[in-house]
Amino acid sequence: MADREAILVLTTGGTIVSHYDGEGRKRYPDLSASAEPLVAMAERAGQRAEVEAIASVGSQDMGRIVWHDLVARIRRAAEEDRWRGVVVTHGTDTLEETAFLLELLVDPPIALVLTGAMLAADNPSSDGPANFAAALSVAAHVRTAAQGALVVMDDEIHAARRVFKRATHGARAFASSGEGPVGFVTAGYVEYGSAAAPFPHRFGQVEPALLPEVGLLACHADMNPHLCRATLAVMPGGVVVAGLGDGNVPAPIAHELAAFVARGGIVVRSSRVDGGRVPCGGEIDDDLMGFVAANDLSPCKARLLLQCLLADGETERERIQAAFDA
Ligand code: GLU
Repeated sequence: MADREAILVLTTGGTIVSHYDGEGRKRYPDLSASAEPLVAMAERAGQRAEVEAIASVGSQDMGRIVWHDLVARIRRAAEEDRWRGVVVTHGTDTLEETAFLLELLVDPPIALVLTGAMLAADNPSSDGPANFAAALSVAAHVRTAAQGALVVMDDEIHAARRVFKRATHGARAFASSGEGPVGFVTAGYVEYGSAAAPFPHRFGQVEPALLPEVGLLACHADMNPHLCRATLAVMPGGVVVAGLGDGNVPAPIAHELAAFVARGGIVVRSSRVDGGRVPCGGEIDDDLMGFVAANDLSPCKARLLLQCLLADGETERERIQAAFDA
């Protein structure tokens, strides 16, 4: 086979390969059978693809064990000379997290596209085959390798940094914050608009299995500081706060967080608002409190970046802030 002609497809489970049992429950195939639906879809899409099964889970169960195998395989693929790109099929619940983590961890970069489906493989209207075909087209496109990790759903191409799941059911469940998708796919024709601006920091040496625990604390009105204290007690390295509005936290919580910073913990303020940017300052004096502002990263992505920075040995607040601002 000529160099860099084939697409490597890595399957991890999700609705795109799932079916419903007789009692209306979603089932994922055994690992050994999990690649079969994708092999058939690849044949129908007419692309030269090879399919390997990494896992077969609903992505609510995605985590460091599957990430370890996935990252190891993609890092290896980036060094091999036969792949034009990689497509990862994934459940949609945590698709945006895996996409962003792969963008951070895969170095050297390779064309990397993630996709999934909202309707199961045995649903006659399943969006899986169309999403998969579009993902293969994007992975094969000459401009894709420079774009970081991309998510392709509903013929839209989203940058990993900005994509989020916006609906629990139905089509068009994905969107990008800020300027929207970076491109579109029309009947296999890929058109890029704005550049995806992949995250500039790469953590090519960080192993997913060794990511430190970082807590995620959801803020709300009438919040009890005991919940914050309990989270901080089990997450000594760092915590991301899904704050209110532009990253505000109730005063009693800010007090707990400042004490945590004084003990050497890292606090990152993000926002529970979809697509909400959190700059330094605003109603909270980050310099005074010793907090980091998440900039444009959602809480779950801010958490992954902080994990990578800590795993890389970074503990200086200013340098961590600089990474979030990059
Ligand atoms: N909860 C499952 C998952 O994320 C199904 C949702 C889906 O794939 O759309 O894998």
